[in-house]
Amino acid sequence: MDLQLTAVCRWCGAGPLRAVYPFTITEPLADFSPSQFQIQQCDACGSWQVNPHPSHEASKKFFSSPERWLSGRDPDRLMVNPLDRAEKRKLEYQIYAQAMTAYLPESGAVMDIGAGTGLMLSLLAVPNPKIAVEPNILAAKLAGERGLKVINQWAEDLVAPKKPLAAIILNQTIDHLSRPDLFLFKALNWLAPGGLLLLGNLINPKCLAARIYGPNFRLFHPFHQVYPTPKAVNRVLTPFGFEIIEIWRPYFKTPYGSIPKFLASASAMALRFLRLTPSGPSPAFIGNTVTYLARKTLLYRTISVKNQIPSSLPC
Ligand SMILES: [Zn+2]
Repeated sequence: MDLQLTAVCRWCGAGPLRAVYPFTITEPLADFSPSQFQIQQCDACGSWQVNPHPSHEASKKFFSSPERWLSGRDPDRLMVNPLDRAEKRKLEYQIYAQAMTAYLPESGAVMDIGAGTGLMLSLLAVPNPKIAVEPNILAAKLAGERGLKVINQWAEDLVAPKKPLAAIILNQTIDHLSRPDLFLFKALNWLAPGGLLLLGNLINPKCLAARIYGPNFRLFHPFHQVYPTPKAVNRVLTPFGFEIIEIWRPYFKTPYGSIPKFLASASAMALRFLRLTPSGPSPAFIGNTVTYLARKTLLYRTISVKNQIPSSLPC
């Protein structure tokens, strides 16, 4: 596998990076050995990340493979049908779609990058044009069958759209990129003033399960390349003129969460915290991932204020 060592933080672009711990995953995956990877933390923004990490080409090849949408293992190591599993996120995605509808500018397209089968876009009841960007040919075909405009491309290979966008959706996408910092630096300029950015299901390395289970946290994976904390997300978005307007910790609305599962997981975590059980992989739990809705506010405010100035002001 094509691996790279990057000296700077791939979330904020700064650093320095220092080692947290090596990988301990045991599942065979692609053609790498887990011992090749390490988790590192950025001293500047606090984001965690895999380093060395799969290159642009390695990530693109992994996620573009049609087999990824035929069968696969979920974080519980269970074989699942990815299409069924994607459909089971509907309750969760409906919450994001409703929130986006309330804030979405009237003009401009909504671009879902890493759209999968287009489920999230299909739930967005707005008149704006919708564009699904999806590198996997099988998922892209299914998104097309929903009537969406589809671009079959990898996120980092995209060129700027001709017109400013009303929203960009990056749901379970940005952490799969080899250089999410460079991609955000480019793509955030594609949004119109007041435009929305949905960063869905970013893995939080400071969540309770990760604190208790350390390297056995279930979502550490070489193809989950960055793990920005909520503070790190805010730190990167603020200088670009974004404000975070909604935050969700989507557990109970996902196929991984329910009251019985929550009670069982809480008990398992308490036993592990007290070192009364050996450490296997951590369970699914509240806060493992966080979703953010941000709005490009700085220019939006500037323009709003400018428009309020009467044209007949005396000189
Ligand atoms: Zn950083």
